[in-house]
Parts: sequence; C-alpha cells; structure tokens
Amino acid sequence: MNIYSIKESSLHETSGISVNIYISGCNQGNGYCSGCHSDHTWDCDAGEPLTVEDIIEKLKEIPSYKFDHICILGGEPLDQPVESIVELLRALRGAFNKPLWLYTHFELEEVAQSILDELDYIKTGEFILGIEHAEEQYGVFLVGKNQVIHKLK
Ligand code: SF4
Repeated sequence: MNIYSIKESSLHETSGISVNIYISGCNQGNGYCSGCHSDHTWDCDAGEPLTVEDIIEKLKEIPSYKFDHICILGGEPLDQPVESIVELLRALRGAFNKPLWLYTHFELEEVAQSILDELDYIKTGEFILGIEHAEEQYGVFLVGKNQVIHKLK
C-alpha cells in the first residue's frame, strides 16, 4: 500500500500524543465525504509504496516515549484489502505496546470483524459539511454530529 505520510504527535486524533499513519487512497480518487479537507490523499498512488516492515522500521525511528497511541488514517484506510489492514495492525501490535486507533468514514457495521478485533478504538462516520460541532469522546474532539468513537477493548 502507499503511505501518504507518517507524522508524529498530534493532540487531535487520539486522547494523547500519537503517531499517525496516513494511507493513500479514497474511493479510487473520487472521495466519499462532502467538504473533505484531505483530497490530497485521495490518489492511491500518492506518497510512497511501503511494506508493513518498512512502516514498522519508520516508527521504530521515533523514540517510543514520544507517543502514546498509533492512529491509522487516510484517505480511507478501509479501501485497502481487509487482509492488508489486519496484517499491518498485527505487526504494529507486535512491535509496539500502544493502543491502536483507526479513522474511517464507514459505519461500524460495515467494518470487517477481523479488523475490529485488532483495534482498541475506531472512529466511524463520514465528514458532512454543515453538521459540524465539537463533542469530546475519549479525549478527542469530533467535528461531525454523526461521528462516533467506539472503544473496542
Ligand atoms: S473518507 Fe477521509 S479522505 Fe475520503 S472523502 Fe472522507 S474525509 Fe476525505
């Protein structure tokens, strides 16, 4: 899969400081959500192709004490094959003792159980322009009324 970027440290995506892995590609370049702020990530060829091992190595370059969580975002990470996301999550779980988060525009019932089994938290629900509000769930301020953070473990 292509990774648009790996960025350490955001106080917005999880309840603490996180390393965010942005997977390239969203609905094959058309995007799902009206008012998306991330259309630069829609192209699945954006960024660089990285193996799961490459991703783990890049995260290992960041001192572990500098982050509390690992968050998978996009693009739309669940446009990737289910087995690729499961493989990535298992590798992250094996290499780091950190809670795993994933952000998707899909609803919870649309997400494969094998992915949910590997996650600690998932944020579901598309971004819909015009129904924004700020509500805190698990230490994260959500921007959409329809969006929910589910604690899975
Ligand atoms: S799923 Fe993410 S990248 Fe895709 S349109 Fe929605 S907010 Fe934008």
